[in-house]
Order: sequence, then C-alpha cells, then structure tokens
Amino acid sequence: MRKTPDLIVVNAAVFTGDAAGTTAEAFAVTDGEFTAVGRSDEIAALAGPETAVIDADGRMLMPGICDVHLHLGLGGASVAWDLQVSPHHGPDEICEAVEARAAELGPGEWIAGGVVGSTTMEQLANVEALARLDRASGGHPVLFKDDTQHNRWVNSAALRAMGVTDDSPDPEGGTYVRDEAGRLTGVLWEQASRVAEEAFAASIEDPEARNRVTFAAAAEVCNRFGITTACDAATMEPALRTLSTLEAEGELTLRVVASTVARPLLAEPGITGAELLAASERFGSELLHVGFVKVFLDGVPMTRTAAMLDPYLPHGCSAHGPSSGECLYDLDGLVAELETAVRAGRGVKIHAAGDASMRMALDAIAVMRRRHGSRPVFHLAHPLFIAPADVPRFDELGIVADASPYLWYPSIIQDSLASCVSAEVIERSWPLADLLASGANVSAGSDWPAGAPLPHTWTGIETMVTREAPGGSEETINPAQRLTLREALVSFTRRPAEAMGLGERVGSIEVGKSADFLVLSQNLFDIDVHRIHQTKVLATYLRGLRVHEAHS
Ligand SMILES: [Zn+2]
Repeated sequence: MRKTPDLIVVNAAVFTGDAAGTTAEAFAVTDGEFTAVGRSDEIAALAGPETAVIDADGRMLMPGICDVHLHLGLGGASVAWDLQVSPHHGPDEICEAVEARAAELGPGEWIAGGVVGSTTMEQLANVEALARLDRASGGHPVLFKDDTQHNRWVNSAALRAMGVTDDSPDPEGGTYVRDEAGRLTGVLWEQASRVAEEAFAASIEDPEARNRVTFAAAAEVCNRFGITTACDAATMEPALRTLSTLEAEGELTLRVVASTVARPLLAEPGITGAELLAASERFGSELLHVGFVKVFLDGVPMTRTAAMLDPYLPHGCSAHGPSSGECLYDLDGLVAELETAVRAGRGVKIHAAGDASMRMALDAIAVMRRRHGSRPVFHLAHPLFIAPADVPRFDELGIVADASPYLWYPSIIQDSLASCVSAEVIERSWPLADLLASGANVSAGSDWPAGAPLPHTWTGIETMVTREAPGGSEETINPAQRLTLREALVSFTRRPAEAMGLGERVGSIEVGKSADFLVLSQNLFDIDVHRIHQTKVLATYLRGLRVHEAHS
C-alpha cells in the first residue's frame, strides 16, 4: 500500500526545473522525498488525516539552490566572527571600526575582519597607513582580508605575532609589501597571507567550538538565500569533522559536497594533499559527500597573478616589466595532480582565473580523457577569460563551467579588472551563453565570501539574465552572453546538482528526489527581470523539513 504523504503543497506555481521544463501546481512529500508532482486536485486527493497541507496561494516554488562554488568556513567566519567592513570603505572608516571593536576586547585578542576593497588596498601599502591602524587597534593584532581573499592588511602587533621584521625574507609565492626604504607596510600578498592566518589560528583557544558556530552560521546564511546543496570549494579536515558532527547531532541544514585541497591554502592552515585525501576517506554520509579535490592553478587578475595569454596592462607603481602572471603548475605537474585525484575516485575542481591557465587546464584534462574516458568529473572555475578557440573545448571535453563568482555585471571588481586587462578581453568575459550553446554544463556559484559578502542567489540570477548591475544600469558587461531566466534558474539548480554528482538526488522537483524546495516572495516569470534581486525566500525546505522561514 502506498504511504500517505507527510506534506502536500497545493495552489503553487511550481518551477520543477526538470529536463522537460515542466511546471506544476502541487506536489507531495513522503519520508523526505517528492512522491507526486501534478495538479492541485490530484495531489490534494492523496492527503490523509496526518498530512500537513501548505496552500501556497499561487506563489512560486522551485527546487533548492545548488551552489556549485562557495567557501563555507570563510563565509561562516565572516558572518559569525569577522569585523565587517565594506569594500567601499576607505582607511578612515576601517580604522574607526577597528577602534570601536578594540574597546570591546580582552588583552591580546585579535581583530579579524574584511573585506577591504582592492582599490582601498592600493592606498594602504605605506607606513603612514600602518601607523594609523596601529593607533586604532590599541595593541590588538589586526588581520583584514581583501575582496580577492588572496591578500591581507595587518598591523604591527600582528607582524610581531608572525615573527616578521623589516629584514625577513619574503615567503615563497608571497610578498611582505615594503616601502622604498624597505620598511614593512602591513600589506601582504598571496602566500604572505598564510603566515598571518597561521599566527591568527594559533591564537584561537577552542577551535572546535569556534568551528561549530562558524559552520552553523554558514548553513543558516545559505538557507536564507535558498541554498540547500553547496559545493565547498576548498575543504580542510576541521571542516569535515565539524560538518559531520553537526549532521550527527541533527543540526546540519545543508547538503555539502566537499573538495579537499591539493596544496597548502592561503586562508586556512592544516594538512593538504595526499594526507588530507587519506584523512577524508572516513567521511561521507547523507548530507556530507567528499567528491572533489581542489587545485589552484593560478591567482587572480586583480593582483596580476592569474595566468594570461597577453601581458597585463602597464601598472603605475610596478617596478617590474610587463607580466602576464604564471601558472602554479607546469602541464606535467598538473596532469600528475589530476591523476592522483582521479585514482582516489575524486573529481577535480580547478581554479584557473586567466585565459592561459584555462588553456593549460583544458590541455591537462584532454590528457586525462584519453587515459580515463568520460567518467571523471572536472570543474573549471572561473570561466571569465577564455580564448574564443577554447570555448567549445568545455563541451568537447565534458567539463563543467563553474561560473562563479558573481562578476558578470558592472561593479568595483570589474573596474579593478579593467585596470589590469585590455578592454577587448573584458568585452568577451564570462561567455556563458556561448558555453551553454556549445553544449557545456554551465553551473552557477556565488564564490561566497570571495565573490560577494553574501551568497545572494537572486542577484546572481538577475545579473546572469541582464549582465547589468542589479536593478538595471546603462553599462553592461558582454550583453551578448545574457541567459534566459529559465537557463539561469537551471544553472542554479539541476546543472550544478549534476556537476556535483547528485543529479539523481537533487536539483529539480521530481518524484524520487530529495524534497529540497523554496517558497518565493514573487514569481520570477511575472516580474520585470530587474526586480529579481529583490526576491525573498519565504521558506526553505531540506528533505521535506523547513530549515528557514522569513521573518517579516
Ligand atoms: Zn572560490
């Protein structure tokens, strides 16, 4: 006998997100799965005396968002712990915020925060700015992340805790930025950031308790923006432990696909590579999947560390000649890294932010396809700069275009890109419609908190459709690459679910899938596309249970 549903939803405008583009009015949920999808009268007839009934009053419902690329630990820490400063803030506002926070702290406690805009960072590489930060901090070590997450601004107390002096050599792959007189400025580039993060991590008394708060906060933020499944783009061992503890205690409200890190990270100390791969073997449950290895192939264009085919534009204060950035692996080294992951049964998520690193990644994956066929999954983030000849290779090689962060609209990050990269390259950035037309899987991710201070799904969807600033703007970024609303929604649901290896389980409202769904404040198909970013998630359900409800 068929079991009576636990929950039915009727009178809804259901965007199912299935491959046939079906819409529905209603569905039933039994034991956390969708068991029927159809018309309101059909579904209402399934209800028994114990069945909970939601009358959606015509509202739009859709599958839970599957975010293909975010950073739960960093994002959770940013909302739970960090001193929040806006990328629009200059040194004055930042120092005021530091002064206010310093007044609340016990002796020796660190002030960690972010994000400082890339344009502000340029004003900070001098001893005057450092002296101001020192005064504001009242002796507390201070550590700010920039909006690329690759660089840091610290004060003198933090430099002391790091054991770094004017005479210290730069760490490999990083720079303690100094002035002409050779004095430290507190600005740290790339791997120098890791030295600061290690000193900060060592200052935390109870990392486990802190991590629980961090990851619970991350899940809460995700649920608020409709995210029910997330691919964590760089996962360390403490994150796996915390997520699995939260799940065991029934407190995890998010399905997570983890990507263990191949080489040491800037932002988080801990084991990586083969050691982490081995340690991660013992994790894996209903809500926690260890699916990927994360490989960073280069840096970011804003710091001219993404590997580009053409040199970066001339730079005012650069003492060096023309540079085009460089890859952190050679082709053989990258192939070997991919091989290790694939042999362990993992997919690989590759960070390649320049058109040259993108090409190397494509070449390496071509080798892997010849060796291993079509089964291994490869994600290529972030497909903003792709040489036109390379666009069709995503489909040919069966590669997921991990389309994050939310940089496909005019913004200060775009302004900072425009100062590094030629207008011609910017004009063909984020070729998402071309990738889609060629047949590639284009999956969207927020890259939270690197791409945006919050994983604001609705801004991402709107601007994927408009390629304008949220709400509309004269200025557009490569508007030929606009997606339709339907394509954008599928890029946030079914396609990323498939990309994460969970296509059978989540990503659409279909019988047999996990009952992960959203109730929205407005029907996206009935409004001007420039209002999509105003959408509120009234309720988020994971496995048929409500994990978020909007408070009016
Ligand atoms: Zn990322």
